[in-house]
Amino acid sequence: MTSATVPTVLVLPGEGIGPEVVGAARQVLEHVLDRAGLDATLREHTVGLPAYERTGQWLPDPVRDDIDQVAQSPRGAVLFGASADEPIGELRSRYDLFANLRPARPLRALREISPLRPERLDGVDLLLVRELVSDVYYGRRRTGVDAGQRWAGQEMYYREDEIRRIVRCALRHAETRRGRLTLVHKANAIPDVFGLWLDVLAEEAPAHPHVEVQDMYADTMAMQMVLRPADFDVVVTSNLLGDVLSEITGAVCGSLGLLPSATLSPTGFALYEPVGGTAPDIAGTGRANPLGTIGSVELMLRHTFDAPRWADCLARAVERAVESWRTPDIAGPGKPPCTTDEMATAVREAFDAVVAEEETQR
Ligand code: ATP
Repeated sequence: MTSATVPTVLVLPGEGIGPEVVGAARQVLEHVLDRAGLDATLREHTVGLPAYERTGQWLPDPVRDDIDQVAQSPRGAVLFGASADEPIGELRSRYDLFANLRPARPLRALREISPLRPERLDGVDLLLVRELVSDVYYGRRRTGVDAGQRWAGQEMYYREDEIRRIVRCALRHAETRRGRLTLVHKANAIPDVFGLWLDVLAEEAPAHPHVEVQDMYADTMAMQMVLRPADFDVVVTSNLLGDVLSEITGAVCGSLGLLPSATLSPTGFALYEPVGGTAPDIAGTGRANPLGTIGSVELMLRHTFDAPRWADCLARAVERAVESWRTPDIAGPGKPPCTTDEMATAVREAFDAVVAEEETQR
């Protein structure tokens, strides 16, 4: 790899459990890079509440300048922890991080902690593709008083090109997976916005003849994701509906703390973060599960580093580590829980064992 293509990873822990899970995942990332002989530049910055308290800015100017520069490159990445407020919204919109990929595949060793019966988990391997920079979140906001009653409104808005690029992204992923795509919507109650989503899907699908396309109302989908999650492959949806549905995938897999995500911009610049938030109820206690953030490192190895071999080894290491080590959210009855750092150490050790086995088989 020439120096021009060496990936740069900006580490932004944020607040709440962010520093704990990112600290653990950074250790794993550095270990994998070292073991794999992969070059990378890592720089860490303070953002979110601790930055605001120190500088009055959620995303201080020097940090923004550094991200601006790194975001020019398809080999640029951010490893983000969590923020209850800004700067995550600003990062998403400033860098056009529109395609949020949330894979959900329950770990074999954790079947007993899912609230679903084990047989319902057989074959669950779902990729939720959530549009991330539009929708009601960014819509026009108004408030007022009418006939003595306070009122509030926030507009749901989608432009055709915003829908088209996320639908194309989902179709491309479906093509490389099991070839099934489900568009989730509420066209019965919100016909203009979701009618446009359905029209765009109908226009784009013919270019992917090997992908079987269906659409489903969001309320039906919420039920079906619990009743028959294994039937879904790629699921594409709007920002708001994706926010809700991804919490269901967290429950299906056993804990929100297990789920990773990657968010891509049109240039390839990407932000990796766990699906869960700041989790103030457990912040600072060493109880946070780092596996969602470590899973985000796995996605980074695939996308930013283009290193699928090492990503596969890391995935196998996580499967192996949870056979013996588990944070409280996934410990299950009668199993002594471990801390965030112990979980990361277990993954590093399992990674070495997986790589050693792989090398003897070569
Ligand atoms: P935010 O406002 O930042 O979204 P929140 O508490 O409303 O914070 P989450 O952070 O997503 O939402 O947490 C929802 C629940 O999931 C909490 O009970 C939290 O403890 C749990 N949770 C989230 N992430 C983890 C994790 N990494 N490990 C263990 N539990 C987690």
